[in-house]
Amino acid sequence: MTATFTPRGSWATLKVNNGLHPFLSASADALSSYDPATGELVANVATSTLGQVDEAVDSAERAFRKSTWRNDGALRARVLFRWAERMRQQTEELAELLTREQGKTIGQARGEVLSSISMIEYNAGQARAIYGRSAALKEGVHGVVLREPVGIVAAITPWNYPLNLTIRAVAPALAAGNAVIVKPASLTPAIVIKALALLAQDNDLPDGIVRAIVGSGGTVGDRLVTHEGINMIAFTGDSVTGINVMKRAADSLKNVSLELGGKSPNIVFADANLEKALVGAENAIFSSAGQICTAGSRLLLEESIHDEFVERLAQRARDMNVGDGLDPATQMGPLVSAGHKQTVWDYVEIANAEGTVVAGGRSLDDSPYDKGNFVAPTIVTDLPADSRLVREEVFGPVLVVQKFSTEEEAVNIANSTDFGLACGLWTSDLDRAWRVGRNVEAGTIWINTYHHFYGEMEVGGFKKSGIGRQQGVEGLLEFTETKHLNFDSNPTFW
Ligand code: NAD
Repeated sequence: MTATFTPRGSWATLKVNNGLHPFLSASADALSSYDPATGELVANVATSTLGQVDEAVDSAERAFRKSTWRNDGALRARVLFRWAERMRQQTEELAELLTREQGKTIGQARGEVLSSISMIEYNAGQARAIYGRSAALKEGVHGVVLREPVGIVAAITPWNYPLNLTIRAVAPALAAGNAVIVKPASLTPAIVIKALALLAQDNDLPDGIVRAIVGSGGTVGDRLVTHEGINMIAFTGDSVTGINVMKRAADSLKNVSLELGGKSPNIVFADANLEKALVGAENAIFSSAGQICTAGSRLLLEESIHDEFVERLAQRARDMNVGDGLDPATQMGPLVSAGHKQTVWDYVEIANAEGTVVAGGRSLDDSPYDKGNFVAPTIVTDLPADSRLVREEVFGPVLVVQKFSTEEEAVNIANSTDFGLACGLWTSDLDRAWRVGRNVEAGTIWINTYHHFYGEMEVGGFKKSGIGRQQGVEGLLEFTETKHLNFDSNPTFW
C-alpha cells in the first residue's frame, strides 16, 4: 500500500453564500466542510434557519401555483437540457470539488458527475412524455387518467454520492412539473449547492421552483418533513433515519419515497468467469471505500473455489493504493469523516475479535495518512452467521466472506438480512442466473457485473432498504399524482 501523491499547497475556500446563489435560503452563519484526506477546509456554506425553510416553502408554493412550469413539459425539458450542458462544461471543476469534499477518487468523482448529467438528460427527455391513458367507458362516457405533479417536493440526500443522489431526485421531480426544495447532507453541501447554482441561473426557471436549505437533519430537515406545505419527501439515507422520517411525515400524510441502506450479497458460483468475478468483487466492496448503499459487502463463494478466491482477492486488497482521491494513482480514498471512521473501526474490531481477518483489519494513522480518515481494505472470513458484522450495514471497506455448497443455500444466505437493495450474481449458467435472480429479494440483481446504474433503469429496495423506486419510468412517476377526469354526455342517476 503506497501513498506518494503530494497534495497541492492550499485549497481555495469556496464561499457559497446567499448573495451568490439566490436560490439558497440561508443566513450568514456558515457550515464548513473539510477534505477527508487532508483535513483542509474545503467550503463554508451559509446555513438556513427554520424561518427560511418556511419562506422557501412559501416561494415554492407561489411558483408552483402561479407559473406555467407544471403545465409546460417543453419548457421543463429545455431548462433541464441546459442544466446538463452547463454541468458538462464544468465536469472537471465539479469532479475536483466532489473529491475534495467527499474523498472518493477523482475517476469515481468524474464518473459521478457524468452519470448525473446523463440522469438529467434522461429526465429532460421524459418531461415531454408524461402520458396518461384514456378509455371509452360506455356510450357517451369517457375517462381520462392524467399524471399531475405532486406539488412541493423536499429532496433530502446523503453524503456518499451527494451529486448523483440529489440529481436522481431533483431531475425527475422537475421533469414531472414539481417545485423542489433540496436539503443536502451537512458533510457535503458545497458540491450540491454548486451544481444547483448551475440550474438556478437559467432565466426560464421560475423563481422559487428550486430552493435549497442547508443545515442539520434534526432541525431544518425535520421542519421539511413535518411542514404542512410540502407534499412529498424523497429521502435517501440510513434505514433508521428513513423510518423516522416516514413516521414524522405521517401526521401530514405526505407521499414518501425512501432509498435506504443495504448489506448486499455478491454470489460467485464455481462455473463463473473467475477473473471477471474477482475484479467485480473488489469493485463491489472497495469502490468509494465501501460507502455505497449497494456495496457488495457480503461475498458468497461456492465451497470449491472459496480458498483460492479469498487468497487472490486478499492479495489485491493488500496491494491497493490507498490515498488522497486527487492522486490519479489512488484506488481507494478515505472515509468521509472522523466520526464515520470511528463507526467503521468499531466493525473492524468485531472482525478482529470474531472472525479471521485475511486482509486489512488496520486503521491507517501514520504519515501520509495521519491527517485523514483512512482504514485499510479489510476482508474477513469465518464469522458466525449472527455476528453484527454479517447482518448490519458497515458503509466502509469491510468485506464479509461466506461459504455455500448448494444454490439453495446461497439464496438462503443472500436473503438472511433485513435489507434487500442489490445483489451480484456470477455464473455462466443462464438457467441458474434466472432462478437465483428471481429468488433473491433485492431491487437490483447484477448478473456477471456489479455497480452499473442507468438513468433508464429503476433502483430501490425490498424489505428495510426502502419504499418506492427511483430512476426509470417508475422513478419519474413517483413524483406524480394520478387523476381521473370523467366525461359523461348523458349522466343517469339512481
Ligand atoms: P443519514 O440518514 O444520516 O442522512 C441522510 C440525510 O437525511 C441527510 O441530509 C441528513 O441531514 C438528513 N437527516 C438526518 N436526520 C434527519 C431527520 N430527523 N429528519 C430529516 N432529515 C434528516 O444518512 P447518511 O449517513 O448521510 O448516508 C448514509 C446512508 O444512506 C447509508 O445507510 C446508505 O446505505 C444510505 N444510502 C442509500 C441509498 C439508496 O439509494 N438506497 C443511496 C445512498 C445512501
